[in-house]
Amino acid sequence: MRLFDLDYDPFTGEKNKTDAEAIRSALTSAKKKKIMDAVGNKCEIRGCKLKAQEVHHIKLVSKGGPNVGSNLIVLCGYHHNEVHSGAITQTKLKGTVKNRSEKRKKEINKILRNRKKVGTEKSSSSTSQAFDYPSFV
Ligand SMILES: [Zn+2]
Ligand SMILES: [Zn+2]
Repeated sequence: MRLFDLDYDPFTGEKNKTDAEAIRSALTSAKKKKIMDAVGNKCEIRGCKLKAQEVHHIKLVSKGGPNVGSNLIVLCGYHHNEVHSGAITQTKLKGTVKNRSEKRKKEINKILRNRKKVGTEKSSSSTSQAFDYPSFV
């Protein structure tokens, strides 16, 4: 299955999946921002000091790539294009995320684990209000 692991569709030759990736991704923009912060807001490609632009799925979301630290890498705009054009291999990206410090790995996992608690955060100071008007109709 090596061939089908490529960053572009082997049948259509379509290389730029950025839009589809963004739509299908379960990562919220808030989480992306936190992950970028966790790596210092810089591209993770060795030697690159450019500003973080995107949290890229090494195995694309459209191909079933999960939102886990080992599948996510922070890239600048330039390297993000390089990755999607095939100039940078998945193997290289996997090696890069594998070499993260333990502290950084933990930080990223923590961000990914932290699921949004719907409707519980705001009501802490006004708990009674939420139950004052039960709707039975
Ligand atoms: Zn991408
Ligand atoms: Zn870069």
